Parts: sequence; C-alpha cells; structure tokens
Amino acid sequence: MLRSSLLYLSRQQGIFDFVKNVGFARKMASRFVAGETVNTALDAVAQLNAKGISASLDLLGESVHSEAEARETGRQYLEILDRIHARTLDANVSVKLTALGQDISDDLGVEIVRDVIARAKQYDSFVRLDMESSAYTDRTLDTFEQKLFPGHENNVGVVLQSSLRRTLADVARANKLSARVRICKGAYLEPPAVAFPDKADVDKNYVAAMHTLMLEGRYPGIATHDEAIIAEAKRFAKEKGIAPDRFEFQMLYGVRRDLQEQIVKEGYRMRVYVPFGSQWYPYLMRRLAERPANIAFMAGNIVKE
Ligand code: FAD
Repeated sequence: MLRSSLLYLSRQQGIFDFVKNVGFARKMASRFVAGETVNTALDAVAQLNAKGISASLDLLGESVHSEAEARETGRQYLEILDRIHARTLDANVSVKLTALGQDISDDLGVEIVRDVIARAKQYDSFVRLDMESSAYTDRTLDTFEQKLFPGHENNVGVVLQSSLRRTLADVARANKLSARVRICKGAYLEPPAVAFPDKADVDKNYVAAMHTLMLEGRYPGIATHDEAIIAEAKRFAKEKGIAPDRFEFQMLYGVRRDLQEQIVKEGYRMRVYVPFGSQWYPYLMRRLAERPANIAFMAGNIVKE
C-alpha cells in the first residue's frame, strides 16, 4: 500500500515542483543522488574507483516532450563521456530512451542515442539502456535489437526486469543475440496481468533469469542488493566454473555501501549506478518505495546532523 502510494507520488510533477526547493527533501535526495552537476558526479565516481568499484552515470530525467530538451540531454551525455575519458575514470553511462525523445518519436530517440553510442564506442565505453515501465518494454527491446545493437555489440546493452512475466523469454532473446543484459527486479508499479504481484515470484524469476544469463549470456550485470540472490550468484558461479570476471554485481549509489565494498574484497566485480542532476524527485520516490524504512532512516540521519 505504502509502496504503491510512493510510486504514485513519483509520477506527480506538481509535487516535485513544490518539494524541489525544500531543504529537507533535497537532503534526503543527497543520500541517493551524487549532486546536481557533472563535477559532483565525477567526484563521486572517483571515490568509488578508489575503492575498486566501477560506475555507471545516469543523468536524471525522464520523459521529455520537446525535441530541444531531448537534444540537450543527448549533448550532456556526450559531454559526460568526454569528461569520464578525460579524467580516465572507470565508468560508463546509463540512459533512458524517454529522456532522449522516445515519447516524441522513436526515430528521434534513436538518432540521439546513436550519437551517444558512437561516442562511447570511440572511447571503448558502454551505454546501458535503462528499462522503464512495461509500456516501454517492447519498444525498447525492438529498438535495441533492430536499430542500436547491430554494429555496436560491445557498446550497448539492455535491462530486463524479473517482475515481468515475459522476462525469461526476453532473456532467451538477448542471449541468442549475445547482448549484454542487466537483470534487476523492476522498480515500477505494474498490473498483475504483466507482472508477478508476489515478491516471492519476482525473486524466483530473478534467480532463473540470472542462472540463464550467467550460463549462456554475455557478461551479465547482476543488479540487486538482495543478499540471498548475491549468495546464490556466487554459489552458482563456483558450481558451474564461471570465472568472477565473466559477470559483475551492480548496486545503487548510497545503498548497502558496506556490501559493495565487501563484494570487491571477495574478488568480484562491482559497478555502482550513480545518478545525478536536478530531476531527482521520481528517482528518490522509487528508492523510498523499495524500502519505506528509508524515510525514517534518512529523516533520522538528517535530524542528527
Ligand atoms: P529488494 O528485494 O527490493 O531488496 C533487497 C534488500 O536490499 C532489502 O531488504 C534492503 O535491505 C535492500 N534495499 C533494496 N533497495 C533499497 C533501497 N532503495 N535502500 C536501501 N536498501 C535497499 N529498475 C528498473 O525498473 N529499471 C532499471 O533500469 C533499473 N536499473 C537498476 C540498476 C541498478 C544498478 C540497480 C541496483 C537497480 C536498478 N533498478 C532498475 C531497480 C531495481 O529494479 C529494484 O527496484 C531495486 O534494485 C531494489 O531491488 P533489490 O534487487 O535490491 O531487491
């Protein structure tokens, strides 16, 4: 109930307009968001790199409705890739196709993201297409398979969500292409017709997808903070003789930093998703929805300061 209320609030632009200048809300966001500028985000990446953790930078922002905004977001991603390269940081980028104009037209989104992928290729880097709500799954996977992946096999990958009933079929499709997949549980409120309502089923589907990706896929990103699933990934890798450099664990900035460091110490690869920018409200609300206890946790930390 609280999760669905928070996810509902995440879509209310009017509330963001109200809270964005409230100091308390901004402070809560700073737990999960690496500042509002490229500089603050790159500094956060440098700190992670110093601990042996790589990063994926996400310029916060979701669906845009003007071509100028979409092109500006694309331009900023080119700059981010240039600056990652200039500072020799270990980081790639994550993009949302809707932030690059997909809701205006598929062609515009493709044109802009192709430029970003071409720049990533120039630096031997990588662009991950984040997955949004199920309304976008088909469009995103079709665009990826037909228009982005061919010719850029090493430089672009997708995300699949174990909450969706369709996901094992999508895993098979991606493995057939030999495309890089990040597997996550899924952060959006979805109808039971397309998604499992019970968390136990989401977790079971995650493990099934993860096993297939580890066995048959290409360098999967195992994106979760779920300790039971992480333990299962390590156990499965040992059982099947899958070397630790054949996959990576991924976590979110500010979440389970202890576990991030521990996983690196054990000899596994870890990438942290580092969001930054002024459009932090929907992202923050999804993080609170995942763990409503964060509201009390962050409020407590803020009050103590
Ligand atoms: P859960 O079962 O939700 O949590 C397991 C445990 O982790 C919890 O018990 C809690 O202790 C801890 N935990 C989880 N979330 C939090 C939190 N916010 N704060 C503190 N502790 C927490 N979703 C998409 O829909 N599309 C994407 O493209 C996408 N990309 C992602 C990229 C990365 C690198 C990661 C890590 C997640 C991404 N997600 C994405 C979000 C994902 O779908 C889940 O919503 C999120 O990761 C929480 O699920 P979990 O696997 O950690 O498991």
